[in-house]
Amino acid sequence: MRDAAPQTIHLKDYTPFGFLVDKVALSFRLDPQATRVLSRIAFRPNPEAADRRFFLHGEGLKLIEARIDGEKINPEISETGLEAAVPERPFIWEAEVEIAPAANTALEGLYLSNGMYCTQCEAEGFRKITFYPDRPDVMAPFDVRIEGDQPVLLSNGNPGASGAGFAEWSDPWPKPSYLFALVAGDLVAHPDRFVTRSGREVALNVWVRPEDADKCAFAMESLKKAMRWDEEKYGREYDLDVFNIVAVDDFNMGAMENKGLNIFNASAVLASPETATDANFERIEGIIAHEYFHNWTGNRITCRDWFQLCLKEGLTVFRDSQFTADQRSAAVKRIRDVTLLRARQFREDAGPLAHPVRPESFVEINNFYTATVYEKGAELVGMLRRLVGDEAYARALDLYFTRHDGQAVTIEDWLKAFEDVTGRDLTQFKRWYSDAGTPRLRVSEDWQDGRYTLSFEQFTPPTPGQDEKPPRVIPIAVGLLGPNGDEVRRTQILEMTEEKQSFTFEGLAARPVPSILRDFSAPVILERESGNAERAFLLAHDTDPFNRWQAGRDLARAALLAMLRTGAAPDPAYLDAIRMLARDEALDPAFRALALDLPGEEELAQALFDAGEIPDPQAIWEALERFRQTRAEAMADLARALYDAHQVTAPFAPNAAQSGARSLANAALAMITRLDGGALARRQYDSADNMTLQLGAFSCLLRTDRAGAATRAFYDQWRDERLVIDKWFTMQIVNARPEDAAGRARELAAHPDFTLKTPNRFRAVFGALSANQAGFHHASGKGYALLADWLIRLDPLNPQTAARMCSAFETWRRLDPSRQKLIKAQLERMLAVPGLSRDMTEMLTRIRAA
Ligand SMILES: [Zn+2]
Repeated sequence: MRDAAPQTIHLKDYTPFGFLVDKVALSFRLDPQATRVLSRIAFRPNPEAADRRFFLHGEGLKLIEARIDGEKINPEISETGLEAAVPERPFIWEAEVEIAPAANTALEGLYLSNGMYCTQCEAEGFRKITFYPDRPDVMAPFDVRIEGDQPVLLSNGNPGASGAGFAEWSDPWPKPSYLFALVAGDLVAHPDRFVTRSGREVALNVWVRPEDADKCAFAMESLKKAMRWDEEKYGREYDLDVFNIVAVDDFNMGAMENKGLNIFNASAVLASPETATDANFERIEGIIAHEYFHNWTGNRITCRDWFQLCLKEGLTVFRDSQFTADQRSAAVKRIRDVTLLRARQFREDAGPLAHPVRPESFVEINNFYTATVYEKGAELVGMLRRLVGDEAYARALDLYFTRHDGQAVTIEDWLKAFEDVTGRDLTQFKRWYSDAGTPRLRVSEDWQDGRYTLSFEQFTPPTPGQDEKPPRVIPIAVGLLGPNGDEVRRTQILEMTEEKQSFTFEGLAARPVPSILRDFSAPVILERESGNAERAFLLAHDTDPFNRWQAGRDLARAALLAMLRTGAAPDPAYLDAIRMLARDEALDPAFRALALDLPGEEELAQALFDAGEIPDPQAIWEALERFRQTRAEAMADLARALYDAHQVTAPFAPNAAQSGARSLANAALAMITRLDGGALARRQYDSADNMTLQLGAFSCLLRTDRAGAATRAFYDQWRDERLVIDKWFTMQIVNARPEDAAGRARELAAHPDFTLKTPNRFRAVFGALSANQAGFHHASGKGYALLADWLIRLDPLNPQTAARMCSAFETWRRLDPSRQKLIKAQLERMLAVPGLSRDMTEMLTRIRAA
């Protein structure tokens, strides 16, 4: 939809819809060019609403006929919907509309993907299917009839009558229209069953194209684990007779939690050992669980309006993180989550796109499916749990589920459940939802006569539209270590509520070493002057695995920043400490692999910027390269020993133990490749029987003079496996040298397998380009120009995906004047494109305003 004057929508303007919906009956006659959608909707006046204007959303619909109580009417139709005069009593609305799924490239509403009909209605896609009050606070039971010649016809709820060319579905649970789904295609099922704890038998199916039938088993196992876990941990049981998952190639997001009919991006469901990496398996397990958990946190209890998006997403991300922590390693999961939070959300919070977890306004809601809403939203749930304790958290969730089942609610309702259970006043905590920006926490300490005092000062920098920010409540988990490395004070939560606050520990025999913000107890930036000796001490002794990892990270970061500032050689203190850790057999290999990861280019750039310096992406890349080379030389023997010790001989399983071993072996291989020119990587590549090892070797070979041969061989082997070919595109670009990255992306965008139609493929090329920071920010500006060219091409077809990728430019204000000028020119060029979507216009305008 392209409209001339995009409207800004404000949270404060919320009013309930003037009518309630008692029942929705939909009938689809499928046709690629001319699908007919017949709706029969029972409305009645909403006693809670003052405004009785009868406006139904609708975009791009051809109205054939509309009736009220059987009488034909002629409603007033605009670009965004229709308005009609209706009686002041219950009435039946009927409409017949025509839509063209084959022409729908935006992948919102009803569209075709490889000949299969599917839908995506969150956030506002249902209005592209029929006229309806398309807002989450209008909930109703749906009956659906589908007529089409596809062998499989699916919708939400329980199956009803079916026969040649038709199927009927009935969903008894009232739901908002964004959870509506329909699928019709030539699909095969991977079936199973699950018996809930109260004895309900549920038929489970993963539906895929016939050629993908061998890639469903892991998703199904993940689903059953998630169903059991939600019963055991949250007391939540599934509530329909069937649960269907469908894999779709052309999909804007990861997956969608439509009631009883989850639709997944194929990359988030299909996996076999040969084609998926350990990281893919873990992601699939997490996303399957995430969408399943939405059945309660999102579907049974939904959001009153889209400003409350974090209510369902923050809570559900938190729940899926808990699930993964239980299935695998809690420490590894926490480190990965925080790494992602810092790379994406802290970056967002520090730039022109910063917004509160609950935004106050938006133009296009699709632009707010962000790291802030999801990842920071989940951190807020974690902080709440820390502040009230595990037991009160469980009682608050029980109260929330019973009190609000079947309702569309707000952050206020969510917090009220915690206040009622605990008696706490959460007014100050609510600022976490309304104030954007990442708080800085400055720490100082004092030691006198056995009294140790930690003093904190909090400060949140200004963000767009928010200058002054009052202090927030921050749970700071702290433990203390004695000089010999023993823990002298176990973890306790210091609850900071003031701008400045001190906490004293009494009765200590010697000055302790503090371990602050254990388990990353709050999404803040810790500012503390501590030397390498203390970091090395914590790396060796901290009992908190997150802070142990953090100490190693801080050492590496300090060494890298020193290299960047003075051209110094990598600090031997880091090398000594990391060697010790890497060979510590008591530590989980996955943890050791994470400890060998270096701070990324984004983290270093922001650190320099925060210190008042201008980061140079090229210099950062060179420093990282030199650091890795020096480290590889310093660890040569150890790397080989680690590699040999972590070869998995058992049959492949994507479990935590095996994937940890493979990740450490691959980390060692990356070091070895810097010394042997790729000889070992070539051997691993040739003998690999799984994608984790093959891709690990491939990415090493891409940095050697064996790159050309490896690239051809990989393509020839996997040309028919689209998800593997996505990796092939990505790997070549993320591993390219900065001066080559844009050229490589340009060549690959001309490859016959490149297409604008499939967001996965577009991201495989252009997401990879923006991930190659030094390549994207190459001083010539060629990375900027190339991305802008392709966003301009994608926008008319798929504005949602195009708009999201604009965030590649969000850090522009921290760069040097020359790069700023180059980016600004591209922002202006894109904004000047006639008919640019409101999605892109909003994103670019916000970025440019910085
Ligand atoms: Zn979600």
